Amino acid sequence: AKKQNGIYRKTEFRIGDITVGKDFLVIAGPCSVESEEQIMTAAKAVKAAGANMLRGGAYKPRTSPYSFQGLGRVGLQYLSKAGKETGLPIITEVIDPRDVYLISEYADVLQIGARNMQNFSLLIEVGKVGKPVLLKRGMNATIEEWLNSAEYIMNAGNPNVILCERGIRTFETYTRNTLDLSAVAAAKGLTHLPVIVDPSHATGRVDLIRPMTLSAIMAGCDGLMIEVHPSPSHALSDKEQQLTPDQFKNLMEEVRETLTFR
Ligand code: PEP
Ligand code: MN
Repeated sequence: AKKQNGIYRKTEFRIGDITVGKDFLVIAGPCSVESEEQIMTAAKAVKAAGANMLRGGAYKPRTSPYSFQGLGRVGLQYLSKAGKETGLPIITEVIDPRDVYLISEYADVLQIGARNMQNFSLLIEVGKVGKPVLLKRGMNATIEEWLNSAEYIMNAGNPNVILCERGIRTFETYTRNTLDLSAVAAAKGLTHLPVIVDPSHATGRVDLIRPMTLSAIMAGCDGLMIEVHPSPSHALSDKEQQLTPDQFKNLMEEVRETLTFR
């Protein structure tokens, strides 16, 4: 942490049109890049609704090896094209240290998924490239473990880390995970890094995205990551939790309104 006059200075850095850590970051887009048309349609929709970064997985960490694994390099190319067309910076997940260099040639931000939060060799590898890193909290990681993983990236030379709470595993099965909003408020007090919330993977349910998004804002988050798909029922991954472009547009109006209350 950079300490000035006894006060930890917040980490702020520029991505596209915004200063992360200062301006509110909204990352939106589909779970996976599925085709050129799908990601282009999603990109235009989330841009029009006010998102400031486009997401889309090309290398997917799927629970089953028989599930759709992502389009790989072709997916990166489609994502990059959609980002350029809309002027949105792009973020995508890296699951293998061997892919870090390739992905960093396309992506503006590298995402470390929940399942890899303690993949230390991957953390060190993304710490060596000059692109900001979004670090998801592991589904069974304590706040301290999460912050230590961020230290791995920073210690390897990359200070631009964004923390993302995406729900933890509990005994509850009604929701996909349990969104830990107390961790968001706590992390804001424990670290100089920006902290964002992913209500999509946290809940796994479209009907819970709105209440958890608005609550996350009041918990003090610096941004959001929300899955949006042109046709969620046809999605190749996470179809239960992706918003339609219309749902996202309406939610963004409420996000802007809620931000004026804090
Ligand atoms: C994702 O954001 O694409 C993803 C796989 O999320 P998580 O790592 O939080 O499960
Ligand atoms: Mn997903």
